[in-house]
Amino acid sequence: MQFLYALRSKGVTDARVLTAMERIDRADFLRGIFAERAYEDMPLPISCGQTISQPSVVGLMTQALQVTSRDKVLEVGTGSGYQAAILSQLSRRVYTIDRFRRLVSDAKSVFDRLDLTNVISFAGDGSFGLPDHAPFDRILCTAAAEDPPGPLLAQLRVGGIMVLPVGQSDTVQSLIRVTRTEDGFDYDELRSVRFVPLVEGMGD
Ligand code: SAM
Repeated sequence: MQFLYALRSKGVTDARVLTAMERIDRADFLRGIFAERAYEDMPLPISCGQTISQPSVVGLMTQALQVTSRDKVLEVGTGSGYQAAILSQLSRRVYTIDRFRRLVSDAKSVFDRLDLTNVISFAGDGSFGLPDHAPFDRILCTAAAEDPPGPLLAQLRVGGIMVLPVGQSDTVQSLIRVTRTEDGFDYDELRSVRFVPLVEGMGD
């Protein structure tokens, strides 16, 4: 209850998003002492030197994505799998990809345990998207690029929405929402954020 109150106070007001975040327990995606801190509104360490994002930022990004139950969603940056699990509650299918095989396999174990059968996981460089499964109605990227990657723009359906942080990796970045129109792309700047960089190639 306190967790939801904190989310609301940070601007997460969409009832569907709040219900999804109530259903998916962040502790399931954390290990050891960090599982005990699951309800704190802060990023926390996971394997491979990566982080699980701050819950309020997860909520705000999910809200900005305006996911519907018909949507096929691509998430770039599986990390712990928490964001993908929330998207699984709101959409038809979620494709999630991370450059670390270990993160993908750990997240897949949690998806299996929670019976989240509409999440499909891939190991690979997500900056190229998943051309074999495109186009996507929604794309959420949880690592920061200097500019929206061309392959991700190309794999967004007309009318589709992509939310991602853009900017230099070691400075404050902007969270932007890209909407694909018949004629091109519309860009909205939503807020400042700080994410790990979108890195080329596979992780060790
Ligand atoms: N969404 C995650 C969650 O719910 O735990 C948090 C993601 S973490 C902030 C960013 C993730 O992006 C890391 O797991 C990192 O390995 C991944 N990443 C960075 N560059 C990538 C790339 N080119 N392709 C795929 N994943 C990438």
